Amino acid sequence: MSSHPGYEVVIGLEVHAQMRTRSKVFCGCSTTFGAEANTQICPICAAFPGVLPVLNHAAVDMAIRTGLAIGGTINQRSEFSRKNYFYPDLPAGYQITQYELPIVSRGCIHIDTPSGPKAIGVTRIHMEVDAGKNLHEGIAGASWVDLNRTGVPLMEIVSEPDLRSSAEAGEYLKKLRAIVRYLEVCDGNMEEGSFRCDANVSVRPRGQAGFGIRCELKNLNSIRNVMRAIDYEADRHIDLAAAGQPVVQETRLWDADQEITRSMRGKEDAHDYRYFPEPDLPPLVLDQARIDALAATLPELPDARRARFQEQMSLSPYDAGVLTAARELADYFEQVVAVAGNPKSAANWVTGELLGQLNKAGLEITAAPVSAAALGRLVGLIEQGAISGKIAKEVFTILWTKGGDPERIVAEKGLTQVSDSGAIEAEVNRVLAANPEEVAQYRGGKVKLLGFFVGQVMKATGGKANPGLLNKLLKEKLQG
Ligand code: ADP
Ligand code: MG
Ligand code: ZN
Repeated sequence: MSSHPGYEVVIGLEVHAQMRTRSKVFCGCSTTFGAEANTQICPICAAFPGVLPVLNHAAVDMAIRTGLAIGGTINQRSEFSRKNYFYPDLPAGYQITQYELPIVSRGCIHIDTPSGPKAIGVTRIHMEVDAGKNLHEGIAGASWVDLNRTGVPLMEIVSEPDLRSSAEAGEYLKKLRAIVRYLEVCDGNMEEGSFRCDANVSVRPRGQAGFGIRCELKNLNSIRNVMRAIDYEADRHIDLAAAGQPVVQETRLWDADQEITRSMRGKEDAHDYRYFPEPDLPPLVLDQARIDALAATLPELPDARRARFQEQMSLSPYDAGVLTAARELADYFEQVVAVAGNPKSAANWVTGELLGQLNKAGLEITAAPVSAAALGRLVGLIEQGAISGKIAKEVFTILWTKGGDPERIVAEKGLTQVSDSGAIEAEVNRVLAANPEEVAQYRGGKVKLLGFFVGQVMKATGGKANPGLLNKLLKEKLQG
């Protein structure tokens, strides 16, 4: 862990998010993931000579909505540029991107830290095209190029160097991913590469105003790997500094198996890419009416929804954060509340039992075997005092494994809570008569034995005695 007291870690993240358009950004080819190699290409994305790009405005709208969602400035005039480099997965020999004038400037993303909320600046969001993929498997001594991904629209979201620990970087990525998922502009899948992150890391002695020399880390295909790579790299920089050696600015690859970073290439400068304005695309000019219309389409975003859950439903900041981390989970939770009535116990059941089981089974909320309506009715039964929390867990297991209707399961299995004080009193009398020694000890001051009596009665009633009523009756009787 990079927590050398004398040094501060400085991190800035560059995220590439594939936008969920149906077709590519400058041609009509499909963007569907997983198709057979080179089946989704045409002369435009394969960069045949003489072809002309035509901008897909669905991608522009997605970038604008993302900019609005992070409180960014939407630039009514932005430009496309060519970034020139050679690589086999880039048939044109240049990437169309935005350089000097991006579509979005400034914005911010709010994260939680142990010392309170913190706003992380977003420098810019620009649009660009994705490259293809080089494949190195399947034929000895050769590589393949798959151009299906070439021309898929990307947003690059660049943060300010405002992050101060790997944990903050992790929170930032989770929040940004939640936002693009709420907006449905990106599926946020790091493993499949539709949401990719490069991390820039440097360290400086605490109290120093200027930043240290940074390294850029690549090949980070999960939030966990981003955090581990940052910790490793920060330690490396601190060790170098302690040994009086300079950090060399470079791009490094994370090796997840060995848990180290290794040098990949020296840092290229902007002039190495010979950026120049893209001659085949006019500047992108947006009128305010379009921006306003898109602003009106924004859903309630994670921060706002979390605040509402805290205010309207009196949930803790932690629970509200967990429940709003994904839009589908928040929707599910709100349906449970609508049926169950009590938000607090609905939150306990969703964050506890339901998320626990989903986690164990490796399932997403959208694949939950228990519907929100069924869980809502189950929680409702507890609220009405019809069943105890313990019995509810049994019913939940049945719902999870076999499905069904909570009321019917409770009725069929005879699980209804016994709230008839006569019936409970009879059991209490029986248990007290059967355990005279314990009764004497209790009356002699060993009040801890109350739990023993509760357990005995619960056992006799199959866990169905109403706990409040049982406690009350027991105490009355034991006082004699
Ligand atoms: P490039 O385009 O060469 O990658 P940028 O200036 O656009 O460089 O910066 C890229 C990222 O690096 C940004 O997220 C920025 O916040 C971050 N960054 C810049 N300087 C530092 C530094 N000294 N330490 C850590 N991160 C930095
Ligand atoms: Mg960079
Ligand atoms: Zn195409």
